[in-house]
Amino acid sequence: MQSVKVTCAILEDMCQAASNTFPHEFVSLVGSSHNSDLIDELIVIPAVQGESHAWVYSNTIPFDPKIRGSIHSHPSANNFPSQTDLESFRKLGMVHFIVSHPFSVDRVRAFDFEGNEVAIQAID
Ligand SMILES: [Zn+2]
Repeated sequence: MQSVKVTCAILEDMCQAASNTFPHEFVSLVGSSHNSDLIDELIVIPAVQGESHAWVYSNTIPFDPKIRGSIHSHPSANNFPSQTDLESFRKLGMVHFIVSHPFSVDRVRAFDFEGNEVAIQAID
């Protein structure tokens, strides 16, 4: 995967949710509502928000064909996936976003399930 398409509205929602959850980590799944590769939906699972590195456990996720991956925030400025992140990425879909402090759109990065960075194409 070279790049991922995501709507500007969802990029802004990710940043907003990350700042609302700060200093805790925000975790959500991301989806595509039109059976395409365009990420245009956050699929929030309330139980996964909270303490640092609280992650979604794959056995709590209902099967949903819209799910493409995940988004989580890093309350620090570090925007590289941790070892825990990489283990979760492999279970949770093809594309994974990390937004780091201070949670502006230019702080969002995307990675494939192996942790390789992919370019973000923001779509209006
Ligand atoms: Zn992380």
